[in-house]
Amino acid sequence: MNKKIHFLFDVDGTLTPSRLPIDPKFKTFFLTWIKDKSVYLITGSDKDKTIEQIGIEIWKNVTRAYQSCGNQVWEKGNLISEKPFPLSKELNSFFQNILTNTKWEEKYGNHIEERVGLINFSTIGRNCPQIEREKYYKWDKIAREREIICKKLMEKFPELEASVGGQISIDVHPKGANKSQILNDLSGEIYFFGDKTEKGGNDYPIVERLNKEKRKFKIFTVTDPEKTLEILQKLN
Ligand SMILES: [Mg+2]
Repeated sequence: MNKKIHFLFDVDGTLTPSRLPIDPKFKTFFLTWIKDKSVYLITGSDKDKTIEQIGIEIWKNVTRAYQSCGNQVWEKGNLISEKPFPLSKELNSFFQNILTNTKWEEKYGNHIEERVGLINFSTIGRNCPQIEREKYYKWDKIAREREIICKKLMEKFPELEASVGGQISIDVHPKGANKSQILNDLSGEIYFFGDKTEKGGNDYPIVERLNKEKRKFKIFTVTDPEKTLEILQKLN
């Protein structure tokens, strides 16, 4: 296969089930598949969470791991760059206000998580059990709470950008400091795999920018890791 192709992978919902570890069979396949290829991870999660999900071998063996939507970059286990984004008082009170007024009643704690270059916000809270996570996700599909929060946030803070990621949260960062940053570092053809490629999703900035650029690219929107595996097996 052409080595000049850069393969970009979202993690949650693309290489692993949301917030859960990678399937062992997929892991074995992927570790072999990435050999001699230009492979990048681009995720909203921090390094520790990603390693917990995909394992240290994949994390260290990909070409680079872009954490916090590309605001922290790791290469073979070494930190090569980061852009901090501390939580302001104003943004904190905006989140507190949403927590007070949300129609979602059950709260589990860890609602605001500060990562390097990115703040992750969740009304149900990241400490929720898996079953409640699923419930919230189903509810949000109809209520569109996260989409509405993102819209309100960007109206109030025009210098910021917010997007829906994973099942229960949103990602917030300075405008432009989204997943599309990865494209600044790469020239040549791109194959991108993601599950939130629709407008408002955290993979969308990559799609939007690729559509504007003149380079060759392919976008693979997947529903789950099984779909990613199926596509990769056909590529070989
Ligand atoms: Mg995803």
